[in-house]
This record gives sequence, C-alpha cells and structure tokens, in this order.
Amino acid sequence: MNKLSVPIDLHNDVMSCLRQYLLIASRFFNTIFAEPQIIYRNKGSIAGSALLQQWQIQLNLAMLLDNHSQFIDEVVPHELAHLIVYQKFGHVKPHGKEWQSVMTEVFKLAARRTHTFRLPESTIRQQYHYYCQCKNHLLTAIRHNKIRHHQAQYYCKNCRSLLQPK
Ligand SMILES: [Zn+2]
Ligand SMILES: [Zn+2]
Repeated sequence: MNKLSVPIDLHNDVMSCLRQYLLIASRFFNTIFAEPQIIYRNKGSIAGSALLQQWQIQLNLAMLLDNHSQFIDEVVPHELAHLIVYQKFGHVKPHGKEWQSVMTEVFKLAARRTHTFRLPESTIRQQYHYYCQCKNHLLTAIRHNKIRHHQAQYYCKNCRSLLQPK
C-alpha cells in the first residue's frame, strides 16, 4: 500500500472514472453517494474488492500498472456497483440481480462477474511465500534461489527462527 508508487496520472484516471459513475448513480437513484476511498494494494491476485462498511475500493496496483485504462474501465465501475448496491439494498448477493441491474441499467456496462486480468509475470515470479514462527514472509526470487541452492539461510528479525518455504 505505497501511495507514492502510484503514478499521479493513473490515480487521476481512477478518480475521474470513479466520479463519472458516481454521478451517473447519484442521478439515477436521486441519492447522494459519498466518494469511496481508493486504496492500492501491492499484494494478492484479486483485481479489486469493495469494502462495504468501510466504503472503500481496493485496487491491485500491479494489474493497474500493467493494464491502465482497460483495468480502470472494468474494475472501478464493477467495485463501485457493489458499494451502490450495499447503500441502496443492504446485504444482498454480491453479483445478484441488484448488482447486475446497476451494471447494465444504470452504468450501461456488461455485468461480468469476474475480471480477466492476470498478474504480470514479473510480479508472480518476484514473490515467494515463506513462514517463520511468528508470521508469513514474502521473499524475492534471488533470496528464494539462494535458499534452494543452499547458499544462504534467512532468519526472521522478529522471532529469530529460520524461514521455511510454504
Ligand atoms: Zn464483484
Ligand atoms: Zn518470526
């Protein structure tokens, strides 16, 4: 979640897309919807998620950097629709008829339930999962290969136990 690593023009594109659909929804429902907080995440393989109670949209930074406007145009309205549905209809099925109607009738978009973006190969290769006695660790390919070839061992700075592959 490093805000500085998001290029400002990409963030501006995210915000203008968000505001565009927010305005459409506000007019359609004659309701004022607060502007959701956008959080960029550096981890995970999920393109985006909507945190209903926090009124937040989390976006996958690696996928955003890799796909730019294609990612924004698909993921931002999809996740925003989840928030709109939550405010208007409460807890309903995530991709049920309410969400589908916001996508198709309000936003005039296809109601695709899943995103087709994949993580860039470099990001997948970059991170390896290890654990110690207190938490999970992500290691780079360089460290991972050193461990595999018995050239190095790494210890958790916190609990001082040896890192083990997952
Ligand atoms: Zn969804
Ligand atoms: Zn530890």
